[in-house]
Formats: sequence, structure tokens, C-alpha cells
Amino acid sequence: MAECLSATAEATEKAGAAIREGRLVAFPTETVYGLGADATNDAAVASIFEAKGRPRFNPLIVHVASVQAAEEHVVFNADAETLARAFWPGGLTLVLPRRADTPLSLLVSAGLDTVAIRVPAHETAKALLDAAKRPIAAPSANPSGRVSPTTAAHVVEGLGDAPQLAYVLDGGACPLGLESTVIGFPEGIPTLLRPGAVAREEIERVLGKRLADANAASGEAGRASPGQLESHYAPGSALRLDADTVEADEVLLAFGPRAPDAETSMNLSPSGDLKEAAANLFAMLRALDAKAGGRRIAVMPIPDEGLGEAINDRLKRAAAPRG
Ligand code: AMP
Ligand code: MG
Repeated sequence: MAECLSATAEATEKAGAAIREGRLVAFPTETVYGLGADATNDAAVASIFEAKGRPRFNPLIVHVASVQAAEEHVVFNADAETLARAFWPGGLTLVLPRRADTPLSLLVSAGLDTVAIRVPAHETAKALLDAAKRPIAAPSANPSGRVSPTTAAHVVEGLGDAPQLAYVLDGGACPLGLESTVIGFPEGIPTLLRPGAVAREEIERVLGKRLADANAASGEAGRASPGQLESHYAPGSALRLDADTVEADEVLLAFGPRAPDAETSMNLSPSGDLKEAAANLFAMLRALDAKAGGRRIAVMPIPDEGLGEAINDRLKRAAAPRG
């Protein structure tokens, strides 16, 4: 059973030492809780895949403390530099070519010649990187395919019994609540591989050009994009999207001020604020799932702009037929 510790300086030091010893630590980031391992240690990285039951072809995001630290591992292009300057530390991940001399385990790349890398902004994530003195590979700290964790309690619920997991650092609820936006550069073209915590529009404004879409891409970008994993972020209950009414056998996940009456319902944002909705999404999906008792979850329509693109992406996958 993993030990859950409040994320004090002392606990974070202890967790950093565990990372150096090749064990796993779950920790809060501004996006979701991560399941972290020393990204330079093959056995430690392999144990992330084991603990999550994650397919080996799904690469991991490497977390580092600074842009300079990232430059030790990957080769930046001009657009990537612009994005790193604008959005790091923060919820944006860049997929870039591996440097030949990087000490990163090949397992983080899952057979590709690229690495997904980001600099997190959360104080606990930063403190853990400092304490570990290593790059930390960390996917979301949940069993593969299930809803991502935005609290320490969610982590314990899903992975508390994983023998590889030494500590869960509890730093409260994640402020953004959605995974990072992933940008890659197939053939040098900035491409949205996964919508996430930073809205497409913000990235396009900084780049001064449109992002290409991975869904249209084939080959490496297509294979590595989570779009290839249809069912993901899945609660136990079935979902019905774009619902403006609630049926007798349904609970309601509402959005905005005009929610229909339902016996059991939660509202992502009564005022219709997409940021608030993003922060609430995974916790409310879990809470409704627990209350549903066999009923379906009806989900009201969410505007497909700003963070709505990522929210709708997660909802679509949560509703997809289970593989
Ligand atoms: P997770 O760690 O669960 O938040 O998921 C990370 C996601 O980042 C993966 O599902 C991939 O889609 C993407 N990713 C990670 N590494 C790469 C890479 N080398 N090339 C393309 N996409 C990547
Ligand atoms: Mg995940």
C-alpha cells in the first residue's frame, strides 16, 4: 500500500529520494496527478507501464525543471522555442527529436525517435524535480484507460495497491484539471497531437499561425496521438453526449445556467465558464459515476471553443465503445 503524505518540504525530499532509488511517486501538477519515475532509469520507467497497465506503444511525458534542462534531452526548432518561452512552466507538452546523447530511457519514447517534454508550474512538482535531481517521466496516475486523477484520493483509489508506488504526495486538487496540450512537429509543421490545458487559440496566437490537426495526420504523429486509443478517460457508467433533456434512467452532468431538472445532477460550471468546467470535469465524472448505480450519465453540450475543445475530446473518449 502506497503511503499518502501531505506535500511538505520534508515529504517531498523523501519522495525525491524514492525516485532516485527507482521507485514510483504520484505527485500533483497543475494539470492532473502524475505517476513519476526517474526518466533515466529503464527499470523504473518500465514499472510505470506495469503499475498503470499501460500499452508499451504509448509514450510518456518527461518533466524537467527548466528550458535549459529540456535542451539536454531534445532538439528545439524555432516554433518550439517560441512556445516554450511563452507557456513554460505550464500545461503544454512539446514532442521533439531526442538528442543522441540524452540519458533518457528509450522506454519513455516507446520506440519513437522523439520525446514529449514539459516544464510543470505546480510548486510540488517543481520541488520534487529539485529533490530528485532527475528528469521525471510521468503519465497520469490512474490505471490505463480510466478517468484521470485530480486529487490524491483519486490516485489512492486507482493505484493505492500498486506495489511499485512508494508515495502519493497530496497537494490538493489540481488547478487546471485537464492533461497538458501536446504539440508535435511532424515534417516541421506545428501539430496539435492532443487538445488540453492550454487552448489551441492561445497557442496559435503566440505562433502567429494555425496548428495542423493530428487526426488528419498519419504515420508517427497519428500513431502516437491518443486519438488512436478510442476509449479512454472512461468511467464505469455509459455516457450520452449533447443531451438537453434527462431520461428516467439517467443522471445529469450539466453545464451553464439552463440545466434541466434531474434527480441526480452536478454542474461543471453554472455560469458557463470553460476553465471552471475543465477543473471540475474528472472529479464530477467520478462522483456521478459513484452515484449512478447503473444509470447512464447524460452530458449537456459544451461549446467547442477554447478549453471546450479538450473537454469535448475527453468526453468523446469517455463515451466511446469500450475496447
Ligand atoms: P499521458 O502521459 O497519459 O498524459 O499521455 C501522454 C500523451 O502524450 C501520449 O498519449 C501521447 O499521445 C503523447 N506523447 C508522448 N510522447 C510522445 C511522442 N514521443 N510522440 C508523440 N506523442 C507523444
Ligand atoms: Mg493519461
